[in-house]
Amino acid sequence: MPYSSLYIHTPFCAAKCDYCAFYSVANASRQMRTRYLDTLASELERVSRNCGALDTIFIGGGTPTHFTVSELSRLMDVFGRFFQFGANHEFTVEGNPGSITREKVRVFLDGGVNRFSIGVQSFSAETRRRIGRDGEVSWVYRAVDALRDQGVDNFNCDLIYGAPLQTTAEWELDLREIVRLEPLHVSTYSLIVEPDTPLALRGVNEADDDLLVEMWQLAEDILLDQCGLERYEVSNFARNGHHCRHNVDIWKGGRFCGAGPAACYFDGTSRWTNPSDLDEWIAQAPPVEDYLPPDKRAVEILATGLRTVAGWQTAEFQQCTGMDIYSLCGDTLNTLADAGLMSVATDGIRLTTRGLLLADYVERELL
Ligand code: SF4
Repeated sequence: MPYSSLYIHTPFCAAKCDYCAFYSVANASRQMRTRYLDTLASELERVSRNCGALDTIFIGGGTPTHFTVSELSRLMDVFGRFFQFGANHEFTVEGNPGSITREKVRVFLDGGVNRFSIGVQSFSAETRRRIGRDGEVSWVYRAVDALRDQGVDNFNCDLIYGAPLQTTAEWELDLREIVRLEPLHVSTYSLIVEPDTPLALRGVNEADDDLLVEMWQLAEDILLDQCGLERYEVSNFARNGHHCRHNVDIWKGGRFCGAGPAACYFDGTSRWTNPSDLDEWIAQAPPVEDYLPPDKRAVEILATGLRTVAGWQTAEFQQCTGMDIYSLCGDTLNTLADAGLMSVATDGIRLTTRGLLLADYVERELL
């Protein structure tokens, strides 16, 4: 079966954020970016041989909008040479407020992009400073103006909560400011202090659970009440069903291919990861395979799909994995139901509100 979903990783950023554990390089030279684009062209040509018409494409990073207009034109030309779209495709590009311009938005739109994702993170200069997030708050408004000017309404805003010393009142201000921008999608992530990041090296702690629960609930209240955005996944909200189809497919066990350093792909049996190093990737070091035995694969898919509010229909899970939910882990599901974390019925399962709040715990219990 040809792939219909593609992820492209662009590894360049203007500056490295103190919390970031993604593979990205700050201040790369023009020469390095050209080498990246040369290698990406070859990889996309190879990948395209296994693809049919694409239903979902996601260019993430790093910061895709860090490229110049002419570099982006080249990237989109290469993409257009090798790939075709399915009917009603979704094509998302991530960007940072400081580098989203009208010209770049135009290049993306001309290449078939129809959804944007902006890394806002916080409107508080103090919070941004504490998490080492570069840039001015005013850039967010400028970026949204650039999108609107080009007729784009379909955009997501990423926000971070649980930052050091951040209060519920400050989080509420961030949410109310997002509401004013009227995005169709909002992603809210609690700050994770990843090992070896500057935050971890400074000894910063994650916020305590009670505060995170309060902030998680506040996001739901304000985004639904003021903006009509409904939670459809632990961290994601959308208006009028504008879910990110690319991510929903992956959470529900879909196959996808990838290109770029550190990009992953899943062929239905194994997960493959390209080297997280530009020079190794340019030298065509092979991806690393993580083979998943069928039972393990099915449980992983079960756990990621349960992060969606809709959960799993039993027939849907059977079709996706070839396995019966209850034979696979019925005892654990009943234990989770007894603890009030899961609702179990003959036609499907889903997490309760408490279960969604404790989705990481549920995942650990299932795995
Ligand atoms: S902009 Fe995004 S990818 Fe780049 S360093 Fe910051 S968090 Fe990481």
